[in-house]
Amino acid sequence: MNRISHWIDGKVVEGTSGRSGVVWNPATGEQQASVDFASAAELDHAVAVAKGAFASWRATNLSRRAEVMFHMRELVSANRKEIASLLSAEHGKVLSDALGEVARGLENIEFACGIPNLLKGGYSEQASTGVDVYSIKQPLGVVAGITPFNFPAMVPMWMFANAIACGNTFVLKPSEKDPSASMFIADLLKQAGLPDGVFNVVNGDKVAVDRILEHPDIAAVSFVGSTPIAKYIYETGTRNGKRVQALGGAKNHMLVLADADLDMAADAAVSAAYGSAGERCMAISVVLAQDAIADQLVAKIQQRIPNIKVGPASEPDNEMGPLITGEHRDKVAGYVGGAAAEGATLVVDGREGAPDGGGFFLKPSLIDHAKPGMKVYDDEIFGPVLTVTRIDSYAEGLDLINKNLYGNGTAIFTRDGGAARQFEFDVQVGMVGVNVPIPVPVSYYSFGGWKASLFGDQHMYGPDGINFFTRSKVVTSRWPDPSTSTIDLGFPQNR
Ligand code: NAD
Repeated sequence: MNRISHWIDGKVVEGTSGRSGVVWNPATGEQQASVDFASAAELDHAVAVAKGAFASWRATNLSRRAEVMFHMRELVSANRKEIASLLSAEHGKVLSDALGEVARGLENIEFACGIPNLLKGGYSEQASTGVDVYSIKQPLGVVAGITPFNFPAMVPMWMFANAIACGNTFVLKPSEKDPSASMFIADLLKQAGLPDGVFNVVNGDKVAVDRILEHPDIAAVSFVGSTPIAKYIYETGTRNGKRVQALGGAKNHMLVLADADLDMAADAAVSAAYGSAGERCMAISVVLAQDAIADQLVAKIQQRIPNIKVGPASEPDNEMGPLITGEHRDKVAGYVGGAAAEGATLVVDGREGAPDGGGFFLKPSLIDHAKPGMKVYDDEIFGPVLTVTRIDSYAEGLDLINKNLYGNGTAIFTRDGGAARQFEFDVQVGMVGVNVPIPVPVSYYSFGGWKASLFGDQHMYGPDGINFFTRSKVVTSRWPDPSTSTIDLGFPQNR
């Protein structure tokens, strides 16, 4: 049985806690590896190593830090297939999807290659006579990342690229369900020339997370996962004096107005709902269809579903893989099974015809006439289930989106530029698509939701990422000039 351990101080370190977790092969339902779960003492060791590496890494000049990032960019690019196959093996996503994940993660390393420019401060010459004022951005120290199962390569890249480039040292606690990509990335960072101890991976569960949240030497925690855990991380981490950004779950609505191109909207809804088996925080899970076109749109989505090829990633034609665990598959199937009793209409039942064998497969489901108050509408299902809610107007659709607990992503499909612009203005959601169903921002913007999709002030990566992983310092400076030196006990003023 393959054993996955920790990566501390530039090498693999076997766990000593005696605790471990199962890493499944979701396509077969069999265990493929075990992953060591760290004790609090093992987490402490990783933090001590990261702390020891900080002084020299933060003093490393910007050219050298950028050089490491450029090198890493080349290594990830050269190894994209290897990383993608690790993702497919442990997460289950098909290879094309896994390659997309690596490409979107890589953007963040490319962004961090510009670190000399990104860390520029401001400078005011002659703020007062002979006095200059300038601001600088400095790293925080040891920072931690805690990541979810659904993007085992991209989400760590969202965090560590900027964190390290800013001069911090990093401890990553990946999802225990698919930890191998993080270990592979750690090795690539070493090959890229990153000094030992700057990037560490500690595998584990709540024990490791709780120690991160209370460890006095961890300055900041970046988290991505479900809303209840995000809230817990934010509350506990900030109570312990840490800077925390905690991204949570989602229920992304796609508003389809009567004038939309319905074929384009149906293609987009199918791609965004069922891609990666719906296990994306930016997946579309609700279509809000204006009454006038709702029947047509539901029919168009229904027609497309049988063409989706569901099966293991090992077959290159497949478009949708299994879910992450048998338990999660059963939970998602439970929502589908309960929809009719709640008063919704089960148009396509994905529990039927899933691939044979022990894999955690479920085919796409389509549920019409879903409404607030039904579990299938209210809950984040995180599986290949698309619900349709019928609305009579733009205003009703907007109201549903703005009342929703979550505010991660949303999209409007219309040909009316005025309606789209009004939507951008009105909607209380962090990431908005106009005829784009999964509006994940490029790496030079920042990623983050509103409401219960984000706890904290700073969004992830991009300019917010640089702000999150640095703190600013303002220097007011005067060089001795005998001709201007006087004694003045008054409060300093600009003269
Ligand atoms: P999760 O919240 O179960 O786990 C996330 C991390 O928290 C993992 O590393 C896990 O080990 C740890 N964790 C889990 N339970 C814990 C506990 N009780 N105490 C301390 N730590 C704990 O999330 P998941 O199932 O891995 O990922 C899916 C969720 O992540 C979905 O809700 C999805 O919407 C969300 N997500 C959000 C974004 C975003 O950017 N907003 C991106 C990806 C995923």
